[in-house]
Amino acid sequence: ALKMAIQYWQSKGIPGKHTFATIRSGYHGDTWHAMSVCDPVTGMHGIFSGSLPIQYFIPQPSVRFGEEWREEAMAPLRDLLERHTDEIAALILEPVVQGAGGMYFYSPTFLVRARELCDRYNVLLIFDEIATGFGRTGKLFAWEHAGVEPDIMCIGKALTGGYLTLSATITTKPIADTICSGEAGCFMHGPTFMGNPLACAIASASISLLIASHWQEKVKLIEEQLRAELAPAAKLPEVAEVRVLGAIGVIEMKHPVDMAVLQRQFVEEGIWVRPFGRLVYLMPPFIISTHELSRLTSGLLRVLTHN
Ligand SMILES: *Cc1c(COP(=O)(O)O)cnc(C)c1O
Repeated sequence: ALKMAIQYWQSKGIPGKHTFATIRSGYHGDTWHAMSVCDPVTGMHGIFSGSLPIQYFIPQPSVRFGEEWREEAMAPLRDLLERHTDEIAALILEPVVQGAGGMYFYSPTFLVRARELCDRYNVLLIFDEIATGFGRTGKLFAWEHAGVEPDIMCIGKALTGGYLTLSATITTKPIADTICSGEAGCFMHGPTFMGNPLACAIASASISLLIASHWQEKVKLIEEQLRAELAPAAKLPEVAEVRVLGAIGVIEMKHPVDMAVLQRQFVEEGIWVRPFGRLVYLMPPFIISTHELSRLTSGLLRVLTHN
């Protein structure tokens, strides 16, 4: 997606636009340029920081999901784009839900305003839907909470329902045409195993299954059950906050958890949960039964109560 954005501006004859803007606490993967737009602290790539390209970071959107919108939340992005429009190729972010960088849910209105600002300052908008795509937040794609479309979108993870590795980068026809009208004549990216037919067949079958299912109702039921069954955790002395959106349940602790200790206890409960830092979270598959989800939440609560 980052390469697409750079090649787009190159093809338009504006080669100076090759840095990126992003928000703090994001996570976009472990590959080279992707590391540079991950949060410099929580992004897990600290040891590479000296050799990564420097990008522009603004604070996390200050208005949370469900909170009343405050216009001043856009000031950092507006200031950044105003000052650096000549260099910035694109704004990249995870829409509505930030995953591995902090499991944080923010107001969809941020995306509406970000779209307006990107249009005004000639900056492409990239949505990384790798964690949020395919129904996870209650919408097929998280950007549907805001009703704004990105210029470039990344999908992965649930694309194949986890059966085989496959990811994809999608863009609009005008952007694709502009890229292909440039000197190179095509998008300059072609890994050996790109478009693997088996992986694509699995993705296609998995998406058909999802669309044919009653996933909206299922995600709503998971959301209600997570809300009800994780709520008691909010009273535990070590818990800072409990939040739920779609099929995502997060228990934020006041201090980083001891992974080794907790994980052994989870296994003893017969559940598999992988916390990181201060975050203990559940993102169950949509086919989970009510009984199985209760087993997960009650096991989780038992372990957290005894720690
Ligand atoms: C997991 C994840 C990635 C990285 O995907 P890989 O396939 O591991 O490279 C990027 N962005 C988000 C939002 C993710 O959750």
